[in-house]
Amino acid sequence: VGAPRGDLTRTRTTCGYCGVGCALEVLTRDEQVTAVLPCHDGPVNRGHACVKGRFAHGFVRSPDRLTRPLVRRRGRLEPVSWAEALEFAAHGLRAAVAAGGPDAVAAISSARATNEENYLVQKFMRVVIGTNNVDNCSRLCHSPSAAGLTASFGLPGGTDVFDEAELADCLLVVGANPAEAHPVVGARLLQRTLRGARLIVADPRTVGLAGYADVHLRPRPGTNVALFHGLAHVLLAEGLVDEDFLRRRAAGLPELTALLAGYPPDRVAAITGVPAGDLVAAARLYGRAERPAIFYGLGVTEHLHGTDGVRALANLAILRGAAGTGRGYGLSPLRGQNNVQGASDMGALPDVLPGYQPVADAAARERAARAWGAPVPERPGLRIPEMFAAARSGTLRALWVIGEDVCATDPDADRVAAALTACPLVLCNELFLSDTARRADVVFPVASWLEKDGTFVNFDRRFQRVRPALPPPGEAVTDFAVVHALAAALGADLGCRTPADALAECGRVVPMFAGLSHERLDREGAVPWPCPDPGAPGEAALYRERFATPDGRARLASVPYLPPGEEPDDRYPLVLVTGRRWAHYNSGSMTRRGGNLRLDGVDLLDLNPGDAARYGVRDGEPVAVESRHGRAELTARLTGQMAPGQVFCAFHFPSSGVNTLTSGHADTVTSCPEYKVTAVRLIPG
Ligand code: SF4
Repeated sequence: VGAPRGDLTRTRTTCGYCGVGCALEVLTRDEQVTAVLPCHDGPVNRGHACVKGRFAHGFVRSPDRLTRPLVRRRGRLEPVSWAEALEFAAHGLRAAVAAGGPDAVAAISSARATNEENYLVQKFMRVVIGTNNVDNCSRLCHSPSAAGLTASFGLPGGTDVFDEAELADCLLVVGANPAEAHPVVGARLLQRTLRGARLIVADPRTVGLAGYADVHLRPRPGTNVALFHGLAHVLLAEGLVDEDFLRRRAAGLPELTALLAGYPPDRVAAITGVPAGDLVAAARLYGRAERPAIFYGLGVTEHLHGTDGVRALANLAILRGAAGTGRGYGLSPLRGQNNVQGASDMGALPDVLPGYQPVADAAARERAARAWGAPVPERPGLRIPEMFAAARSGTLRALWVIGEDVCATDPDADRVAAALTACPLVLCNELFLSDTARRADVVFPVASWLEKDGTFVNFDRRFQRVRPALPPPGEAVTDFAVVHALAAALGADLGCRTPADALAECGRVVPMFAGLSHERLDREGAVPWPCPDPGAPGEAALYRERFATPDGRARLASVPYLPPGEEPDDRYPLVLVTGRRWAHYNSGSMTRRGGNLRLDGVDLLDLNPGDAARYGVRDGEPVAVESRHGRAELTARLTGQMAPGQVFCAFHFPSSGVNTLTSGHADTVTSCPEYKVTAVRLIPG
């Protein structure tokens, strides 16, 4: 008892929760966080932060933190030395390769980890193991953004940085609830609206911004493509397109015009449930704006046809000439996790090397092989769902899961657990003994985002520095150190000893990152990619001269509307949508360990009062939710925010069983799960 004795230390870093990328100052004393303050000169947050970034740091000194490596012996996880854990893991990896070749090993890297750690993980898998079996958790959220934006514009990122939203005169916010999931962006969008921008919200729920919208479109879950085509139909029919831009800079207009003839407002109304008048009103607002900007979230991507949804949404920006102008509007994906953009940028993906260079491209492989001093495998690797399927079938013999609780967060959770049980060797890097760690054979205790050195890339492509405010507890080390140590245990040397070295090496492999370095970021704060030149700024607004497609033109997509994987029926008459709430983050493993649990501590099922009356559910009382795949136990909350026929719950309390409900349907292009449409029924508790 008594006053703290140590000095107060201030560390500037980047928030490790959502993809907004708020710059934070972490105050510590005696290796405890005393406060987290938003930086007034933060490039994105400008002095603001939300309830997660500011207050959800109690987890960092939680007694639940893993502080020693664990190895499974006689069925139980036991604490061991690092040397024993690494030797056990290395022996198991050698055995897996001996039994099934390099492709019998896979790794799931992490959008929670730094760029440098993701870079090192993919290098480890490609150089030390000899396989492209590496993926990251963007597979579960924004992989359709990467695929769709690349197909439409040429690069897998938003077209502009967020500052340009200040200039937009019309905001179209689609399939996102930034007021809760990206609160600083949500607040800035609201400020812009209050200062005069028109606002269109397209979301089945009455999300926070909807109360300020000029038009709120409420499509049935799973009907986005029809909705976007309906808007595009009106733009074309009413001459609200930029014909000069389309002539000079776009391709595919004749095909799209023919397709859109089949999406008049009355037909779209029948598919989506959006009144034709609202659709026309929204299209006119967007089409008549001088500087319209689109922001979208997982409500667009996490569908059976999520990539088609991204492309159909991109059509609107192209038709309107609202991308590639250099004047800063266009289309931005609101990335969910702190480094979901960066994990993919670094090549923790099975089909591309760092910088999205295809593994099928011999020149790209050769460039990487020269930098790494080892050949790069040619055959694309497994995606996350394919890894689980391969584990269940016995062809995958070792799986390394880094910073993701796949048993709690992936869809159809029972099948994920079965895959881990079937896999002969599961390695896991974790902060806590998660559901996934409990099933692992080796658990490596690792540092959190408050204990790491490196960089993150936020939702609008900006690299920013991450700095350690604290040492990790006990024997925990960074993921960066674990990858190096495991490589050494296998007799390999990955080079790039420090995170700064790793980013520098990445710049030698990827021309569009060549101008980036820790030293530059320390000096300048934030730099967006592409940034090929250390002496020039990164590109905030992309495609000023040409799009990054082979012919330099943006591609209009003629993709038909196709129904979701599940439709409600007599047995499962309601549609469940899952998502985020304001005080918590993803599986809640960090935000549930601290004060935020007191802010939001009950796993709620939101439903319309009419549906509640129909199914005998009462406000505040237990309700069971059943799908064709599983069952969850929640507490009912009756709210007019929900449309009749739809229910909503968050995924922050996995123990309720929410991810046993979700189906195995996934985006046909990227395998991103269809979290946003699950047919369910309710059983009052
Ligand atoms: Fe900013 Fe997102 Fe962190 Fe909140 S969670 S402080 S909005 S980066």
